[in-house]
Amino acid sequence: MIFSEFGFTEVVEEGLRAMGFETPTPIQMEAIPPLMEGKDMIGVAQTGTGKTAAYLLPIIDDIEKKPVEGLTTIILSPTRELALQIDQQLEGFAYYTYANSYAIYGGGDGTSFDQERKALTKGTNIIVATPGRLISHLNLGYIDFTDFRHFVLDEADRMLDMGFFDDIMRIINKLPKERQTLLFSATMPGRIRQLATNILNNPAQVNIAISKPNEGILQGAYMTYAHQKVALIERLLTDKRKDYQSVLIFSSTKKNVKEVTRALQKLNIDASSISSDLSQEERERVMLDFKNRKIQILVATDIVARGIDIDGISLVLNYDVPNDAEDYVHRIGRTARGESTGVGLTLIAPEEAGKFSRIEQLIETVVPKIPLPPEIGEGPEYRPGRRLAGKQGNHKAHSSGKTKSHGANKKRRFDDKGNKGKASSSKGGNYKGKRSNPNKKQG
Ligand code: AMP
Repeated sequence: MIFSEFGFTEVVEEGLRAMGFETPTPIQMEAIPPLMEGKDMIGVAQTGTGKTAAYLLPIIDDIEKKPVEGLTTIILSPTRELALQIDQQLEGFAYYTYANSYAIYGGGDGTSFDQERKALTKGTNIIVATPGRLISHLNLGYIDFTDFRHFVLDEADRMLDMGFFDDIMRIINKLPKERQTLLFSATMPGRIRQLATNILNNPAQVNIAISKPNEGILQGAYMTYAHQKVALIERLLTDKRKDYQSVLIFSSTKKNVKEVTRALQKLNIDASSISSDLSQEERERVMLDFKNRKIQILVATDIVARGIDIDGISLVLNYDVPNDAEDYVHRIGRTARGESTGVGLTLIAPEEAGKFSRIEQLIETVVPKIPLPPEIGEGPEYRPGRRLAGKQGNHKAHSSGKTKSHGANKKRRFDDKGNKGKASSSKGGNYKGKRSNPNKKQG
């Protein structure tokens, strides 16, 4: 199958060509036809399956076919990183079309809030937002839903894990009842099914779940006491026989991220860190530097485990065992993307063995336990069933806006007075830019 069989408008196809998309992925093949018919959808799909394009393309195509000035679409994302990534794909696909978008994800200063307000009131079609930030705008009462028609919840399970249920319901209660609603989730626990029953209307279902790691990932684990972990990481990173170009180290807590980064830096290992403690601008800079290989070793909380799509990560090191078994798959899934291979190693303290064995059950794989290098000393045994007395191991491992106006060449900017492009007002106003003849490209 090829993309032209879906019947997208020519300008959408142009965007696809520019993005280098030729063949649809399985979820795109399944999801795009019912979405183009306007059906609601429940999709079990993880990052890496092509789900973002599966829902973005029909939405952009619908806006192109029935162009309006106002807000047509809200896409909710659990994290800023994912929002930004969705928005970047949007930018590519919609480049030649009438549709425009704006990302609203908090973390910025007052100026960015103001910019977001302008985007929301001056005729932006698609908003990609994190729930909390969108609620702040909704509460101020200036969002006009007259033209509204699509609502997407991406990574719904993650959003509920992060405590966004009430925010999501508050947002939904403000939306017009007449709309197309899409819910995507990597897992489908009962509460997501319940949410889906409440908000979807006779949805089409697609199911492209992968809860097993990619076969290109070589997995291994070390049993260690907490005090041995940093030394082991140092040993692994400085192993002359291995040449890891790009390394991602995960920990569930910000505190551990800080401590591990500091400990590695003390050992003269050039590591950087990313967690929600950084400002939005700093986070973006770190991600970009890591992508561009300016940063070789990045220590991160789970916030970057999902949705972030960086090629060429050769080693993922789990400083601790993630609390959620699915998170393990997400963490190590950052390596061996596409056709490449990679290594995923986990450091297990005695009290984490139970959690790790649940992960092994989920992925139906016994991950090889590698003996510690002799200089690290004797490690504990892997005994997941054993109850631990006292404080043995003493390792705690518990558990992640700025706005962006994009498509500078085609999209409207908002100046200090809230004017967009060269024009002076929103709907019904005299905007003379690209949209002065919205029906021009219909069909
Ligand atoms: P997603 O699962 O939506 O996060 O997509 C994962 C990655 O696959 C992203 O980098 C997309 O740009 C890419 N991708 C998605 N669909 C296609 C396709 N049909 N052809 C080529 N690349 C794709």
